[in-house]
Order: sequence, then C-alpha cells, then structure tokens
Amino acid sequence: MKRIAFVLAHPDDAEIWCGGMIAKELENHSDIRIFYLYACTEERIKESNYNSKKYGYKVYYLEHEKEKLVEYLLKFNPGLIITHWEYDANFEHRETCRYLNSIIPTLIFSNKMNFKLFYCESVNLIGNNNNFFVPDYYIDISDKYITKNDMIGNYCSQNPEYWKKIIDTQNKLFGNVSGCNYSEGYQQVQIFGVKKCKKNIIE
Ligand SMILES: [Zn+2]
Repeated sequence: MKRIAFVLAHPDDAEIWCGGMIAKELENHSDIRIFYLYACTEERIKESNYNSKKYGYKVYYLEHEKEKLVEYLLKFNPGLIITHWEYDANFEHRETCRYLNSIIPTLIFSNKMNFKLFYCESVNLIGNNNNFFVPDYYIDISDKYITKNDMIGNYCSQNPEYWKKIIDTQNKLFGNVSGCNYSEGYQQVQIFGVKKCKKNIIE
C-alpha cells in the first residue's frame, strides 16, 4: 500500500492543489494523510473533516503543535511527501515548505526515512519572485475532476467558486500540455541538491 503525506498550510489546500491526485490514490487504496500547519479554525476543521470522512483520508491539524510533525511522519513513514512550492506567493505556504525542509535532515539522516518529495501548484502559478511554477510531473485527473470540484465545494467558508475557477484554468492548462483534459502539475524536489538519476549511470 502506497503511503502519501501532504504537508500543507491551510485546511482546503490539499483539495485545491492536489484533490485530483488524492481522489486517484484513494481509488488505488493508498493511505493518505494530510498535515495542516496554519489556519486550523473551527470552521475550516469542520469542513475538512467532512471531506476526510466522505472520501476516506486522515487529517491532522498541527497549527499549535508543529513540532509533532516529525513524530507523525516517522510513524507513518510515507514513500511520497507533497508540500507547497518554495516560491509560492502565499507567505504561509512558503513557511510550511520551509518548516518541512528544516526537518528533512532529522527524517533522513537520524531516522533513515526514504521518500520522494514534490511541490504542488500555487495560485496563478506565479511565485514570489515573479517566477513561474514549472512542473516536471503531470497527473491526468480528468476522470476525477468532478470529485475534486465536490471536495473544494465543501469548503463553504472559503469562497469555493473562486477556487474552482482558478483550478479550472490551471488544470486545463496542464491538461493541454500533457495531452488530456485536466492535469495537476508537480515538481520533484532535489533533496539536499541531489539530482534524481538512474543507478549505474557511469559505465
Ligand atoms: Zn493555503
């Protein structure tokens, strides 16, 4: 069973940026756990819990106990971690990415975890340096698009129509470049600057 952790800022980020991937992986019986580090208000938690119950993933609200993230990740031992882009225009998204990056040495060197790390999309795909988010992986979410929209729509307090429009533009654009109707884009992170490469590449 695939174990995937999403370390994100606000309850609704998982559904907006990664809802298609989550829906696909749930179908594959993957174990999905989401960790939120900011804005864990009563209202958002209620909306997020509604989705997690309906679709079947676990959510942890760590706004006031971020230090527990290490413990949870070690216990869960995911093969894949998804977080926000380091240049995300939203400050708390960037802080979430920074926090995760700060615990990576503990996870890998001290505890020998082995996982792949990816950044997810951000609003309008423009970073805080006016740079663009350029994915190197796309996931075809065409058959999960209705589910993703339902997930986003369940956050009534967060102006879901606005987010659905943003997502429609971005996922269509990525669908276009990857040859399907709708795609989500992900960027693989070179952990400690180590480039992903094939084994025995020097012969
Ligand atoms: Zn957010």
